[in-house]
Amino acid sequence: MTDETHTGGCHCGRVRFTARGAPLSTGWCHCTICRRTTGAPALAWVTFPRAAVEITGEPALYRSSPAGERVFCPVCGAQIAYRGDASPTIDLNVGVFDHPERHPPAAHGFHADRIPWFDAGEGLPTVENGDSP
Ligand SMILES: [Zn+2]
Ligand SMILES: [Zn+2]
Repeated sequence: MTDETHTGGCHCGRVRFTARGAPLSTGWCHCTICRRTTGAPALAWVTFPRAAVEITGEPALYRSSPAGERVFCPVCGAQIAYRGDASPTIDLNVGVFDHPERHPPAAHGFHADRIPWFDAGEGLPTVENGDSP
C-alpha cells in the first residue's frame, strides 16, 4: 500500500470522495447497466478496496441489479460509484476523479456488449470546443 491519495466528486460538489493507496485495477465497462445509468457509450472504472474509499455528502443509492447498487449525487445526478453487495471492492467512475488522467483504462469489460462503433482510440478528427457550457 502506497501513501498516494486520490480525490474526486460530482459536478455540483455535494458528493466527494477520497481513495487511499493504489487502485487495484482500471478498465472500461461496456455493459448495458453502466450505459443506462450514466448515458455514456461506455464507462471507465477505477477499482479500490472498499475500505480504502470514503464518500461524503450524503449520496443517493440506486439498486441497478440484484447484485449491487450505484452511488450518485441526488442534486446533479452524477454517478460516482458501483458497489457489488458481495464484493470487497468499489468501482469509482473515472470521469469524476479530480485527476482522471492518472487512471487510463487497462482492459475492456463486457466487451461483447459494446456499441459496435465504440472506439476510444485515436484517429478521429479533433475539435477544441473552448469552455464547457
Ligand atoms: Zn452533485
Ligand atoms: Zn458495467
